[in-house]
Amino acid sequence: MKKILLIATGGTIASRKTEEGLAPSITPQELLAHVPDAAALCQIHTLQPLNLDSTNIRPEHWLELARLIEDHYSAYDGFVLCHGTDTLAYTASALSYLIQHTRKPIVLTGAQRSIDEDTTDAKVNLLDALRYACAGDSGVCIVFGSHVIAGTRARKSRTKSYNAFTSLNFPDLASVHESRVVRYIPWEDQGEPVFYHKLNTRVFLLKLTPGMDPAAFAMAGQLCDGLIIESYGMGGIPHLYLEELDRLIQAGKTVVMATQVPQEGSDLSVYQVGKHVKERYHLLETYDMTLESTVTKLMWVLGQTQDQREIRRLFCQTVNYDMLF
Ligand code: ASP
Repeated sequence: MKKILLIATGGTIASRKTEEGLAPSITPQELLAHVPDAAALCQIHTLQPLNLDSTNIRPEHWLELARLIEDHYSAYDGFVLCHGTDTLAYTASALSYLIQHTRKPIVLTGAQRSIDEDTTDAKVNLLDALRYACAGDSGVCIVFGSHVIAGTRARKSRTKSYNAFTSLNFPDLASVHESRVVRYIPWEDQGEPVFYHKLNTRVFLLKLTPGMDPAAFAMAGQLCDGLIIESYGMGGIPHLYLEELDRLIQAGKTVVMATQVPQEGSDLSVYQVGKHVKERYHLLETYDMTLESTVTKLMWVLGQTQDQREIRRLFCQTVNYDMLF
């Protein structure tokens, strides 16, 4: 029988009503008591390093979770993390960069309703996650609402419905229906797992809005080593910000161009507003990556190196299906 480590971190799945609103308080043992069928699937041990609404999850928690998995890696066949849905896509992306080439499944799940409620998606999601973790090779992924999504491709796209997550610009890896796992994307074995222990959190995501004060560029630049500019459509920089952009580049900041449009990605080479800045400054761009992946990948890359060439090499390398181009 497979051995699975269940790591509980809080979120709605583990929340109860309080006078101040829903707050996490359900223990991992209580979670498991709601899914008695899990005992027939695998042997489960539990840990609860955190008990937070995922609104409060920060990069140091991602490092803590990755370290916990590393410490227990050889003792288990797979890992299931219960997590709040609000920042689940960020944690799944961060773990995709911190734990690369893992053959053992690292499966994140959560729920839109607490496992304590009469009507809830929590039991199905938890059972599906355990079932998927027992199914074999798969890397870091999210199991939610029957969908299995690569850890770098998820977006929380609904705040209330059970099918809360969408895989952006990439197909689901698989689906779980009752006791069946149907795989759409075959697992590619990439050798031994590599664990990373450093993130540079001085990354800032600046969303452009028409006519935004150029001073925002300067202020964002002071706060970070890596600036992601969330531009419009296929991507471009309004004339209003060209001087500030030049200053940022001269100051040695890494600038990545992203788009506010969730589907199909950026291509700076199409319009004059993008092409000339890309050529002049050799800007990095996200193409079809999600913003969650872009933020966490840049933290990972800048945590490994300060060398501009190496930054470019690492950022452009595909990790856990994060970019296709
Ligand atoms: N606020 C909750 C959280 O992210 C929402 C959820 O889990 O669905 O922790």
